[in-house]
Order: sequence, then structure tokens, then C-alpha cells
Amino acid sequence: MAAPNDDLTTFRSHAPGYWPQDAMADWDSHQWQLKNRVNTLTDLEQHIELTDVERAGVLLAGNKLAMSVTPHFFNLIDADDPDCPIRRQIVPRLEEGWTAPEEMADPCGEDSHMPVPGLVHRYPDRVLFLVTDRCASYCRYCTRSRVVSGVGEQQLETQWEAAFEYLEKTPQVRDVLLSGGDPLLFSDAKLEKILSRLHAIPHIQFVRIGSRIPIFLPQRITPALCEMLKKYHPLFISIHTNHPKELTTEVQEALGRLADAGVPLGNQSVLLKGVNDSVEVQKALVHKLLMCRVRPYYLYQCDLIKGSSHLRTSVSKGLEIIEGLRGHTTGYAIPQFVIDGPGGGGKIPLNPDYILQRDHEKVTLRNYEGETFTYPEPSEAPESDLIALKEQSACCS
Ligand code: SF4
Repeated sequence: MAAPNDDLTTFRSHAPGYWPQDAMADWDSHQWQLKNRVNTLTDLEQHIELTDVERAGVLLAGNKLAMSVTPHFFNLIDADDPDCPIRRQIVPRLEEGWTAPEEMADPCGEDSHMPVPGLVHRYPDRVLFLVTDRCASYCRYCTRSRVVSGVGEQQLETQWEAAFEYLEKTPQVRDVLLSGGDPLLFSDAKLEKILSRLHAIPHIQFVRIGSRIPIFLPQRITPALCEMLKKYHPLFISIHTNHPKELTTEVQEALGRLADAGVPLGNQSVLLKGVNDSVEVQKALVHKLLMCRVRPYYLYQCDLIKGSSHLRTSVSKGLEIIEGLRGHTTGYAIPQFVIDGPGGGGKIPLNPDYILQRDHEKVTLRNYEGETFTYPEPSEAPESDLIALKEQSACCS
């Protein structure tokens, strides 16, 4: 039995976990994983004893955001700990039913930036292409819970042909991010159809895929999928993981297959109360990510999604985490902390205050240990010095 903190630093498999040993015959099949997802209250209660708050949350979740968890990810839940950081991310809770006054259905203002249904064009040179509303498992804090899983208040109605035509006739778009939902849930053939169509558009320089599949369903990252992806470079994948326990042996191997296929990998985390809101957990996460050849990319302040206040932290918590990482670990390991401007402002970077004072002559700074340093702004050489140097150089010729 591993000690609790081992999950912060070591990679291990949790299979078969809550499932009988004979499930191992099919464990590596992603189809089996999807077919055996935990989707109902009865499924859940077969494995763990729910608290009253969770039970009520599951009963209310049906018309907001479906509950669904792959056996692989479910095994990360600690049955004896109602505050388990994995459990908080995927088991609905009563608090989800309460909407704080500041919360919104569409906190990033995506719906108002769609020239074609399913295609968000907010920045001049790049688009977000929402290709599906389905995921392998559902995160209770999902920014797109208004459309994801198909049970919420809206339906995602991507108009494929119109979206491709818009991209073909919009030459300023050089970067397409495929998201949803989770694009890697598509079959290889369907995904290839999308990638090849985008690849054929000359002004599209590269494609990115946003996916939590390597974490929820690492079995889907098959050698055949990686072979297919290789044909469409430059292709980037942004994974989404929040807690070091999510980085299991299976996940490390799946990420290795993607990295071996030449896919640059970045991670986006969401800062969540009771999940990863400490320097210790974040540091363990970024260290394990680098060992999986994944660059920590963004740490998001949780969006103002309806029913998320029990998962949101203060903004100062995020700054405190960055302060606890910068200078205390490899620079490569430090994600950029951002807030997606509510209502559609885009990503706004946030950093602790390292500048103490600034004028036209100098900047006064502090380092990670609190020591103060002065960096003078560039000086302009006096004309008389330049003339003297010129005369000196004439003597040398
Ligand atoms: S995987 Fe992404 S899109 Fe799917 S529920 Fe989680 S956050 Fe939302």
C-alpha cells in the first residue's frame, strides 16, 4: 500500500482498483473503458459511500452537466476521504445547484464571438473550433458546461461545412484550436478527416488540440492514433491535468507515445479549492509533468461558471502559488497564471509584484528571496565621448 504522499511524487498504476481482477483482460481497451463508465448514482454507490452533499449533487446533476467517469480515472478516488481532490473534480456536489450573483452560463463570452455556430473567432489570427460536446469524463467546473455532455441549457450545433468555408476564406487565421468537448474522443478516421481538411488550407500554419483524454482515458492514445497525428505536423496538444495523482503510469506512457510522435505537449490546469490550491501540490504536479515531457503552460483562475463558487479560490491564492514556484524550482516548470477576462476579455496574465519602483532612470526589483536589486535603464553616450572615441579610432587606422 502506497503512503498518501507517494501519489504526489511517484507514477503508479491503480488498476484494477474498484473493478474485479478479471476486468484486466479488457482494461487497456478504450472502448471497454468508455462502456464501463460510472454514470449513475447506483454505479457510484456500488464503489464508494457518498456524503449527503454528494448524493444530493448527483441527483441534481442530470439537467446541468452529466456525470460520467472512466474506470481508469475513478480508481484515483480515495473511498475513505470525502475531501479527496479527485473526487471533488468529478463527483457532483449540492453546492453546484447554487448560482452566485457573479456567475455566468458563458463566462468567456464565446457565444457572442461565433461567426458560424461552433467556431469562436475572438482574436484576429486564431480560432477555437468546438468540434464535439462529449468528453470521456466530465469535470464539475467545466467552462463549457452550458453545452458539454448534452444535458445542459444549450446544445452545441457545430456547422461543419460553414466552419470550414469560413476558415478557407479568412486568411488572417493562422492557428486553429480544436476543442469541445474532447476531440480525441473521435475515431482516428473522423479526426483525420478534420485534420486533413485544415491541413489543406494554406494560411493555417498549425493546429492545436485541447484534450483531457490522455488523463481520463490514456488507453485512447494508441500507436495507430499517434501514427495518424504525425502526418499533420506542426500539431500541438494541450492536455489538462490538475493534481499529481492524475499522472499515473498509464498516463506517463500515453504522453510518452505522443511526445515520441513529435507532438509538443503543454498542460493547462485550473486552480481549484481543495484540489490543487497549495504550493506543495502544484510543485509536485509541475515536476511530474516535466518528467512526462509536458511543459506546464497555463494555471487558470477558475472561470465564473454557474455553480462553481465552492471550487473557486481567491486570486491571491494563485499569486501565492506562483510566488512559491518562481525561483524555487526550474523556470520551465512554472505555468503562467491567467484570468480569462469575464465576458470575453481573453487571457490576462497575472504575476506577483517583483517591481517595487520604476522611473525613467531605474527599476527597483525584488527577487524570490526578498532581496532588493536596482537595474538602471540604458544610458545614452554623451556626444563629446563619441567624438573622442572617433578621434581615437582615426589614430589607429
Ligand atoms: S474535459 Fe474539458 S471540456 Fe470536458 S468536461 Fe472537462 S473541462 Fe469540460
